[in-house]
Amino acid sequence: MIKQNRNVSVSIKQKISSVGVHDPEGAAPLYINARKDFSTTNHRREKIMPLVTSKEMLLKAQQGGYAVGAFNAENMEMVKAIISAAEELRAPVMIQTTPSTVKYGTVETYAAIVAAEAAKATVPVCLHLDHGDSFELAMRAIHAGYTSVMIDGSKLGFEENIALTKKVADVAKALDIPCEAELGKVGGKEDDLEAEADTNTDPAEAKEFAERTGVTSLAVAIGTAHGFYVGTPVLDKERLTEIRKVVDIPLVLHGASGLSDDDVRDCVKRGMCKVNFATELRDAYSKAVKATFAEKENTIDPKAYGRAAIQAVKELVMYRMKVCGCDGKAE
Ligand SMILES: [Zn+2]
Repeated sequence: MIKQNRNVSVSIKQKISSVGVHDPEGAAPLYINARKDFSTTNHRREKIMPLVTSKEMLLKAQQGGYAVGAFNAENMEMVKAIISAAEELRAPVMIQTTPSTVKYGTVETYAAIVAAEAAKATVPVCLHLDHGDSFELAMRAIHAGYTSVMIDGSKLGFEENIALTKKVADVAKALDIPCEAELGKVGGKEDDLEAEADTNTDPAEAKEFAERTGVTSLAVAIGTAHGFYVGTPVLDKERLTEIRKVVDIPLVLHGASGLSDDDVRDCVKRGMCKVNFATELRDAYSKAVKATFAEKENTIDPKAYGRAAIQAVKELVMYRMKVCGCDGKAE
């Protein structure tokens, strides 16, 4: 009788285990299996490496005479919009977040969102820290999975900027992560940054800065400003040409929101290999949300205005990618 019961018990346990239902008595083996699966998945994830670094992307752009679009994302919807645009146009793409964005979420939050979305993509996706304002933040971003960082010491003096930038660039280099810096001040206000508009980059200083810091790309000021332009910006394109003559690494254009297509194209032709777009994406996103509520005041599903925002941002990103000339450049 007892024996019979035991047999019944064993056969039920086996049956339960085979269909994957949790059985308290069989907990240990199931738990080990689960851990095994988990570690295998992690291992596989490391191999997939959904995110690529910006180094090859920007060097290819420099050789090919186009620029990679770098788009600021604030949330999952913007990440989806940017990657979807890149997929549709077969473009390599950089997604970036500022210090205030990673304060809103965390570097881990954005790294996880972008990695999850990039894992489904068939085009190269890079996650970049835009305007990193400290050594610590740059390190945290790399640790969280960012595949490119910027350290912005442009508000410091020349020597202090070099010292801070070199500190980040040295560690980034050892970890095989590209590092962007800024010399001269891009005008306007982005994030917590505000600069005078008349502090354009000096070509000789740019050369010395690039050599002494070892950065892999450099943001230079030629009269653009963050935010939207009130009047028509006067760009010192000759200065850009002069900088390009003496600086070999890819140059980066900040403050491109609201620049004319011709201005962006001309800057790309003169050596800009990465063009940043932030403000106009936020604008497109917010307008799409507002339009949803204007049409249906009682909308309560965040997915409804989320979808509208994704579509609006995607269209703008596709448009800007074509202006940068990076469409069709993914391999
Ligand atoms: Zn910027």
